[in-house]
Amino acid sequence: MTDTTAQSLSTRSVHAGEHRDPQGAIHTPLYTHSTFAFESTADLLDVVEGRTPGNLYTRYGLNPTIRSVEAKLADLEGGEQALAFSSGMAAEAATFLAHTRTGEHIVCLGDVYGGTFELLGANLPQLGITTTFLRGDEVERLPEVLTDRTRIVFFETPSNPTLEVFDIWAIAEQARTVGALTVVDNTFATPVNQNPLSHGADLVVHSATKYLGGHSDLTAGALIGPGELLAPVGMWRKNLGQTIAPETASLLARSIRSLPVRVRAQNEAAAAVAAFLAAHPRVLRVNYPGLATGEQKRIVDAQMRAGGGMLSAVLDATADQTAAVVDRLRLFAIAPSLGGVESLVTQPITTTHHGVDPGERARRGIADGMIRLSVGLEDADDLIQDLAHALDTP
Ligand code: PLP
Repeated sequence: MTDTTAQSLSTRSVHAGEHRDPQGAIHTPLYTHSTFAFESTADLLDVVEGRTPGNLYTRYGLNPTIRSVEAKLADLEGGEQALAFSSGMAAEAATFLAHTRTGEHIVCLGDVYGGTFELLGANLPQLGITTTFLRGDEVERLPEVLTDRTRIVFFETPSNPTLEVFDIWAIAEQARTVGALTVVDNTFATPVNQNPLSHGADLVVHSATKYLGGHSDLTAGALIGPGELLAPVGMWRKNLGQTIAPETASLLARSIRSLPVRVRAQNEAAAAVAAFLAAHPRVLRVNYPGLATGEQKRIVDAQMRAGGGMLSAVLDATADQTAAVVDRLRLFAIAPSLGGVESLVTQPITTTHHGVDPGERARRGIADGMIRLSVGLEDADDLIQDLAHALDTP
């Protein structure tokens, strides 16, 4: 494998983890095989007993295509190792299962993806693993809710859909006082804009379905961190059969090679869209890390390199009027995902927060007039024109 130490992110995105096969294929080839053969029993035992890194069985992740994309993921997040999963939820579920036991506790800070909320709030309690949910504006209550049974503090930064940022360093410091791990979902920021491990997080999780995949054509997840924290997670992944498929791993590696180019263009276009919306008379508020002020700006400046490609805006409009604005958009497709080359729009009350009680939505700043935008690779001026037409049509 190429030694990528000290190279820039763009170079590492292309070269990290790659190896050429004897035929000279320019990237790591796709090995669809479920099993790998050995010259001798001694050679097999070297891999089985962990003395030699090697290929063995694909569900274990011991497949060259999977190991290659994992090396790339670890490199980009500045972690020792990575595990690639069949989805972001698979990565989260295996992490929670591996690092908590019955009777233990998780703290979830701020707004998180609906599936995460359901996993923590409905599935894990069936196993006697409970979660305390703190709203973003309750972050100062963290020390009060941490107990000697708290094993994980989990959060997204920026969060969905309010794009709130959390101080990774300060939270990790508090989590450590009770021996809890800090697990950060870095899906929105991507390793281009933020590396949570370098700000004190213990583990980083991704829905690779989003920016890492980047083309809305694959579903995958990733967990990055020190080997000793990944080993128990790897066992759950293996035995729950959650390993990424080699075909998806190859597609994911293909996408990550262009990640910095895509994300930097998306950062720029999103900043332009956010500035346009902030100046529009029908817009009450724009949530975008690049426009943060006060304490939020301090956190953005301390841990993010750019504002990212995601933003939300609250329109001076009812739920129906907001839906009409969304329906008039032509370049932004109405779809619940994010991070792809094409721009997407959602009204959170109809998607991610559809089932949430209106009072709770209001407390969390998720207004009926909120739209969430995932800015793609279209020209920013075209996107702004599309928004102007949708907002200005009576
Ligand atoms: N984390 C975030 C921030 C997400 O937005 C999502 C999905 O939308 C997930 C995790 C779950 O990822 P996946 O859909 O790949 O399971």
